[in-house]
Amino acid sequence: MATDAFGRRIDYLRISVTDRCNLRCVYCMPPDGVPWKTHENMLSFEEIERFAAIAAGEGISKIRLTGGEPLVRLGVVDHVRRLRETTSIEAIALTTNATLLPKYAAELADAGLRRINISLDTLDPEVYARVTRGGKLADVLAGIDVAFEAGMHPVKLNVVVVRSLAQDLIGFAGMTFDRPLHVRFIEYMPVGEVGEHSCTGAEADGWTIEDHVPSDEILTRLAAEGAAAGLGELAPVPRDDAPGGWGPARYYRFPGAQGTLGVISPLSHHFCGECNRLRLTADGKLRTCLFSDEEIDVLDVLRGGSDEDVRAVIIGALAAKPESHNQRLGTLRRMSQIGG
Ligand code: SAM
Ligand code: SF4
Repeated sequence: MATDAFGRRIDYLRISVTDRCNLRCVYCMPPDGVPWKTHENMLSFEEIERFAAIAAGEGISKIRLTGGEPLVRLGVVDHVRRLRETTSIEAIALTTNATLLPKYAAELADAGLRRINISLDTLDPEVYARVTRGGKLADVLAGIDVAFEAGMHPVKLNVVVVRSLAQDLIGFAGMTFDRPLHVRFIEYMPVGEVGEHSCTGAEADGWTIEDHVPSDEILTRLAAEGAAAGLGELAPVPRDDAPGGWGPARYYRFPGAQGTLGVISPLSHHFCGECNRLRLTADGKLRTCLFSDEEIDVLDVLRGGSDEDVRAVIIGALAAKPESHNQRLGTLRRMSQIGG
C-alpha cells in the first residue's frame, strides 16, 4: 500500500493516452487544438504498460484511461486487454466523449472494460454543437445506449455545470429513471491559462469565473426543480448503495430512479484530504495534483532506466504530492493535456 507524505493512500492512476481529440470543447481545447506531440515524445502503449505494472507493485490498483479522447488513439482496445492481462491492476476504467463508442463499445467490453464515464454537458443539440465546436448530440446518446448494451457497469455521465449555459438539470435527472445511469454534476474548474476575466482561457466562449456554480447550489436547484416537476423528494444515497467510485462524488436519488445524481465539488468543498490519485500525461510526465504544474519526468526514465529507476520516480512523486490545491487558479496545461 502506498501512502504519501500526508498519510493519504494513493491507489488510483489516471493515464492520458493521447492529447488529441475529435472534439474541441471550448473549456478544454483551443479551436485549432493544442500543438500535438510527435510520436517520439509520447509514451508508447508498451511504455505505459510497463509503468502500470511497476506502479501496481507500489500500490496502484485502479487505472482510468483518459485524454484528449482516448478512443482516437489506434490500438487502445488491445492496450486495455494487455493492461488487464499483464499487470496486477484490479480495475480499469475509461473516460470518453462517447462519440466513438458505437464503434468500440463491444470490443472494449470484450477486452475486459466495464467502468465507463461519458462526458455530456447539455441535452440541447445546438448548444452541444457550440460547446464542442461541431459535435453531434445524437452520437453521444447512441454511445450511452451501446455502453449499456455492451454490459458496461457502472455507466456514469459527467456534466460540467456552467452558469451561462443554463443547463436543464431536470432533463439529466430524467435520464436516471429507466436505466442505472449515474449522472454527476461537476463544478467547472479553472484549468488552463487564466486571463483577467477568463476562467479557462480567452477562447472559452466568454465564460468567466462567474460561470462556476458551487455544488450546494446545484443540489438546491435539483431538489426544487425536481419537486416542481413531480419527481418527488431528492434523497441522499447511503454510501454502501452509491455506484462504486474512486472519487469524491456525493450521491442522491429521486424516488423510483434506477440511477443516481451526484455532485463533485473540487472547489467549493475541496477534497484534497481524500485525494487518492496520480496522473500520467501522454508525454510521460507524472502530475501529483491537477492544479500543480510541477511535473516529474517518466518518459526518459522509461526509455533509459531500470524498473528500479521507475519505482524511484513513483516513490518521489508520492513524497512530492502537495497537501492541497490551495484554490489555485489556472494551470500551464489545458485539461485535454492533463486528462481531467
Ligand atoms: N475526451 C474525454 C472526455 O471528454 O470525456 C476525456 C478527457 S476530458 C479532458 C475529461 C473530463 O474533463 C471531461 O468530463 C470534461 O468535461 C472535463 N473537463 C475539461 N475541462 C474542464 C474544466 N475546465 N472544468 C471541469 N471539467 C473539465
Ligand atoms: Fe475533447 Fe474531452 Fe476535451 Fe472535449 S473535454 S475537447 S471531448 S478532451
